[in-house]
Amino acid sequence: MVTLDQLVQYAKSTGFVFQGSELYGGLANTWDYGPLGSLLKKNIKEAWIQKFQRETPYNVLLDSSILMNSDVWKASGHVGGFSDPLTECKSCHQRFRADQLIADHDHDVNPDGWSNETMAEYLLTHQVKCPSCGALEWLPIRAFNMMFQTYQGVVLEQANQIYLRPETAQGIFIHFKNIQRTTRRKIPFGVCQVGKSFRNEITPGNFIFRTREFEQMELEFFCKPGTELEWFSTWKNACMDWLTNLGINRDLLAFDDHKPEALSHYSNATTDIKFKFPWGFDELWGIASRTDFDLNAHQTHSKNDLSYLDPETNEKYLPYVIEPSVGVERLFLAFLLSALDEETLESGDTRQVLRLHPALSPYKVAVLPLMKKAHAEQAQEIHQMISKHVDAIYDETQNIGKRYRRQDAIGTYLCVTVDHETEHDQAVTVRNRDTMAQVRVKIDDLIPYIQKETDY
Ligand code: ATP
Repeated sequence: MVTLDQLVQYAKSTGFVFQGSELYGGLANTWDYGPLGSLLKKNIKEAWIQKFQRETPYNVLLDSSILMNSDVWKASGHVGGFSDPLTECKSCHQRFRADQLIADHDHDVNPDGWSNETMAEYLLTHQVKCPSCGALEWLPIRAFNMMFQTYQGVVLEQANQIYLRPETAQGIFIHFKNIQRTTRRKIPFGVCQVGKSFRNEITPGNFIFRTREFEQMELEFFCKPGTELEWFSTWKNACMDWLTNLGINRDLLAFDDHKPEALSHYSNATTDIKFKFPWGFDELWGIASRTDFDLNAHQTHSKNDLSYLDPETNEKYLPYVIEPSVGVERLFLAFLLSALDEETLESGDTRQVLRLHPALSPYKVAVLPLMKKAHAEQAQEIHQMISKHVDAIYDETQNIGKRYRRQDAIGTYLCVTVDHETEHDQAVTVRNRDTMAQVRVKIDDLIPYIQKETDY
């Protein structure tokens, strides 16, 4: 696998990812997604919606606001408790997350669920060094709330203080009743949401792995109490299958089932799917069985009945919830890391290939006139025709071999070349990125051919 530095270089030079605010010297840990990156993000989101919503009989979509009534965050526990343990080096005054210092010090130790005192004790007794200056002394650990605050309205006063959402999930919980009523769904059913979340992380970093603004894809699946562990296992496997079906090697993925003592107080099962990033296995996707904690909290605080009445058995209950939650950018990083490859050809030449699943490729097809003068017009027409169906790019600069290499390097799955024969046989040459095999396809058959080859 490539190193993180190599990947950052690749992403910047190809137009997948640019440094945020680069023209003005940047803004720390912000990243913008260029023409290729925007398409990859779109494709990741579409592939998720396809498997977790469109193809299941259970799940529907929601698009709720980033800005919500602050009471939502009081009820959910975020105002009081959405914090990370912050510590500071006594010598250089750099700030760190205490739990991360511990996990980085010993990868076999999982400090989830530890008290601040236990973590402070660990830092001291294990002589954990400041990653910045090497000093050994730490200031007391305190809870640092990660919610971004802002103000709504024209008068800066306490009453108008609101938060940027730190997760999309609460938008789903507060609309549980609206969704159930308007869709006439019976339990079990789920709600999928894709959207931006904001966390004032203490130590963002590792490129796009941890940022303060990111996109989440969350499913809240509502089921009958007693059935939750079965559904937990169903969704856990669905997440793993989604990743491997989209081309990530199973060896690069691992389930990290949380031990009972590391579970949050409201959860009766939690697992993380970890991916082998260049710095080691780290969290990609969190999957938690959250009991009725969230609905119960909103029922209590809003004083609205959020229970479900089973129309067949007349049982009334608060549904239990399974939540698989994943970040689009973390997936983006994992997909790029696992797909970027350098191959030595029989000729001894090397080629860079981005072996993305075609469903994720920014461009499924490149349309190339063999000779610009003779074939450009027809190639442009074919490009127009294909663009009605899939993302396609037209490229007429440099020789055909260079153009193939350029498309291989950005993951384009098929290259369609218009050549001297095309006007006689009404056909084009289609080259496959991975096998480099070429076949002749009639222009009339091109769309179904492309759809079959790039199907997900
Ligand atoms: P961590 O312990 O790494 O801070 P978390 O366990 O708090 O993360 P969750 O609240 O479970 O994370 O978030 C669900 C998913 O959202 C994560 O698995 C990850 O894919 C994504 N995510 C969370 N925080 C960030 C972030 N700051 N930047 C990018 N993605 C994030």
